[in-house]
Amino acid sequence: MRGRDGPARAARPAPTVYSPAVRDLHLLPKAHLHTHLESTVRSATIRELGGRPPVQDRPFGSFREFADQRAQVRALLRDRRHFRRIAEEFCQDEAAQGVRYAEVTFTAAAHGERLGDPEMPLEAVAEGLALGAHRYGIHTRVILDHSRRRPVERLWRSLELATRHPQVVAIGLAGDESYPAAPFAEVLDAAREAGLHLVHHAGETAGPASVWEALTVGRAERIGHGIRVLEDPELVTELRRRRVPLEVCPSSNVLLGLVASLAEHPLPRLLAAGLTVTVNTDGETSLTAEYQRAREIFGYGDTDLANLARTSVESSFAPAALKARISAEIDRWLIS
Ligand SMILES: [Zn+2]
Repeated sequence: MRGRDGPARAARPAPTVYSPAVRDLHLLPKAHLHTHLESTVRSATIRELGGRPPVQDRPFGSFREFADQRAQVRALLRDRRHFRRIAEEFCQDEAAQGVRYAEVTFTAAAHGERLGDPEMPLEAVAEGLALGAHRYGIHTRVILDHSRRRPVERLWRSLELATRHPQVVAIGLAGDESYPAAPFAEVLDAAREAGLHLVHHAGETAGPASVWEALTVGRAERIGHGIRVLEDPELVTELRRRRVPLEVCPSSNVLLGLVASLAEHPLPRLLAAGLTVTVNTDGETSLTAEYQRAREIFGYGDTDLANLARTSVESSFAPAALKARISAEIDRWLIS
């Protein structure tokens, strides 16, 4: 029997390994700016609530198929305990990814309508997030989104909720981007006057015109996705000049069939164009996995990945002191 230090092994020279810095990405402090609470529900929780967890091993056939699947999960959330639970579990799962600060999108008004209780869903989510903050040391804020397909009255209700809950930091338009933003302009102006931030999904399924509209009519401070902005050089110049961050979600784009593969994803070209790019999940994967893919597929080193994390922190609506603290932690990760 040949021992571990037998001649065969000892005779082989130690390989010269070029070792690029490969630090643990779970430990890289991050901000997560684009994720939907209802898309983050654990499979085990879906099962316990009586649903069947989706097995998503191929891209969705259509945006509708994706939306229908999400609707099935939303329908499982029926009482206060459910909302509180998914919010707290979100905190635990994000904290395990090295996320120090998350802005989680939640469609509070839609749940309120469905359940005949406008206040409960957001109250319960806020409770769950507070509990999660206490237990897992993560900071969170809520973004209330509104589907463009839904009536403007619902967005007014979202604004009312937002102004009553300090947890809410922004509101924004989501859903089918072929629907115009114009009908919502008055509410969005009112939201801004109430001190809320505005972030809209745009340039994901629709082209540059949707991003222009998000910037002008919607007064967007960040763009959810924006992966199609490169189609319009003038728009790229404007986004660069105003340093409007893009919340890029590569795996989600592939899953929804908007980009053929990660290797063909425009993220590196968006960065090369001098745009402010943040990496996010849309709730479709873990944030560490998304950074890992950026490392493997785009060949980013630890300095590049730390820069992406830093951009996500700077692009967030977190208080300045918290941003400074997380940025300092990123610096420490890079010299670890
Ligand atoms: Zn989204």
